[in-house]
Amino acid sequence: MRSNLSPRLILADGHEMPQLGLGVYKVDNDSARDLVDFALQSGYRLIDTAAMYDNESGVGEGIARSGVPRDEIFVTTKFWMDDLGYEKTLAACVKSLKLLGLEYLDLYMIHWPAPERELYTDSWKAMEKLRQDGLVHSIGMSNFHPEHLNRIFEIATAQPAVNQVELHPWLSQEDVISYHATRGITTQAWSPLARGQILDAPELSEIARSHEKSVSQIVLRWHVQRGYSIVPKSVRPERVLENSLLFDFDLTADQMVTISGMNRNFRTGADPNDRN
Ligand code: NDP
Repeated sequence: MRSNLSPRLILADGHEMPQLGLGVYKVDNDSARDLVDFALQSGYRLIDTAAMYDNESGVGEGIARSGVPRDEIFVTTKFWMDDLGYEKTLAACVKSLKLLGLEYLDLYMIHWPAPERELYTDSWKAMEKLRQDGLVHSIGMSNFHPEHLNRIFEIATAQPAVNQVELHPWLSQEDVISYHATRGITTQAWSPLARGQILDAPELSEIARSHEKSVSQIVLRWHVQRGYSIVPKSVRPERVLENSLLFDFDLTADQMVTISGMNRNFRTGADPNDRN
């Protein structure tokens, strides 16, 4: 078994998070169990799920089955927008822990700000309580624009550790990234492969050939060299493995510039303000 294949990022709250993780969106419980087990056996140490994915029990079974000690694994889940609000957020966390079969989460996230509901600041206070009570080690959010983060900072007593946003060479999110840098928030990329849609881009295949790597590995390596955490998803074990083999080569400065130049503000998912 290989372990520690991914570098670790130090979060603003002092906890360490592996840079590479496995995402399990649109994976059912049985497949999640097998994939999480396989990924952990292959050296992955971060698993990214969510209540909305409806596979937390499968993820928990995979963790247990892998035999990897709990304290070597970084487990993230998120609560969906129906659980925004102070009491609902507390209850949602307890439910997720039960389904996962875990005593604590490494990172708990507000999945979506749903700004028109005006409840995410209440949820943040609940997140701080969960952290204080030891049920979660780090707290963060997903799909928050700088304007939403500003409202969190107005009321927060605990630092947001991570904001997980859609991010890939077609959507570089420079405004969000520079906001994170000024606030000490770690950036985590969801759909780091643009849901696979970017893998046919000709400028990427040329770079892939020059390194004898796959296009997927080139895109993921671009994220790594930008300093982002990534949670690519595949239901195929051979691709799960392929997506982890990122730490034995470097893209040149010119190749980084070429890939960064592909931005066209293309979202595969909704704009955070448009989902309420
Ligand atoms: P990704 O960008 O990870 O792309 C996944 C797609 O790419 C799948 O179709 C997969 O196909 C394909 N793929 C993966 N690896 C390879 C490879 N090596 N070669 C060729 N094709 C490949 O998209 P996701 O939307 O799944 O995002 C990743 C994770 O991000 C999710 O699983 C979830 O954890 C998180 N996420 C979070 C969101 C949020 O709101 N916070 C929203 C969306 C995602 P196949 O499976 O058939 O291999």
